[in-house]
Amino acid sequence: MTTPLMPAAFLGHGSPMNALERNRYTGAWRAFGAAVPRPRAILAVSAHWYVNATAVTAMARPRTIHDFYGFPQALFDIQYPAPGLPALVEEVADAVKPDSVGADIDGWGIDHGTWSVLVHAFPDADIPVVQLSIDARKPPEWHLALGAKLAALRERGVLVVGSGNVVHNLRAIDWHQPDGAFDWSRRFDERARELMRERPHDIPSLVSHPDYHLAVPTPDHFLPLLYIAGLAAASGRPADVLVDGYAYGSLSMTAYTLDARCQETGGDRHGAAPLATDLPPEQANV
Ligand code: ZN
Repeated sequence: MTTPLMPAAFLGHGSPMNALERNRYTGAWRAFGAAVPRPRAILAVSAHWYVNATAVTAMARPRTIHDFYGFPQALFDIQYPAPGLPALVEEVADAVKPDSVGADIDGWGIDHGTWSVLVHAFPDADIPVVQLSIDARKPPEWHLALGAKLAALRERGVLVVGSGNVVHNLRAIDWHQPDGAFDWSRRFDERARELMRERPHDIPSLVSHPDYHLAVPTPDHFLPLLYIAGLAAASGRPADVLVDGYAYGSLSMTAYTLDARCQETGGDRHGAAPLATDLPPEQANV
């Protein structure tokens, strides 16, 4: 039996409210989930597991983590009861040698960076989900290289999903422009798009982009992109834009796929449905 090469994706998750909503972003995530071969497991690199360790979740029944506050009860009521796959730890460990990964048996679970997109992409929650932490001690080049090492897992039915936002500056959020972008946000996102399409191995060079510090005030939401850039670089093929757009001036919602056939919404800003969220500024940890 031959296993098809599994696609990969970076999904810009934006507000956790996207878990409850239907808009063109969630529609694109659904189209992606429907287009890929059924994965054996999903390996998620979420902005919200940003710690001083390289670790993989290794519990059989990962809990759904509601790692935010100030949102409606309906969001706290969401469960994503996908099983884990403890055996995947060894496969990840083999793939990333000589780097090492720890097995997290009871600490983390499935955080909202992961479940807010998977409730759309894989609504049945019946595919095992494993999270790979983002090691906060490491530079972008290391994350790119680690992503490239995960390429072997794609041949073994593992779907790698990065979840973050290319541009993510909560302090700069402008609630008056739900679908708008500041000039610096647009410049940075467009440069990232050029690189993802043409030279994904150069994505770490964005740290010297003039708008980097506004677009990426902290690296947690940016670094998941590096994993998909690494996979694109390893494959020798560019990434495709699945969907793009902006939220509240200082978030970009751009999503990328690798080797997936679900590009019908890519790059089309026309007819964009406005995001229905209107979140008060005290909400945090988006
Ligand atoms: Zn987030």
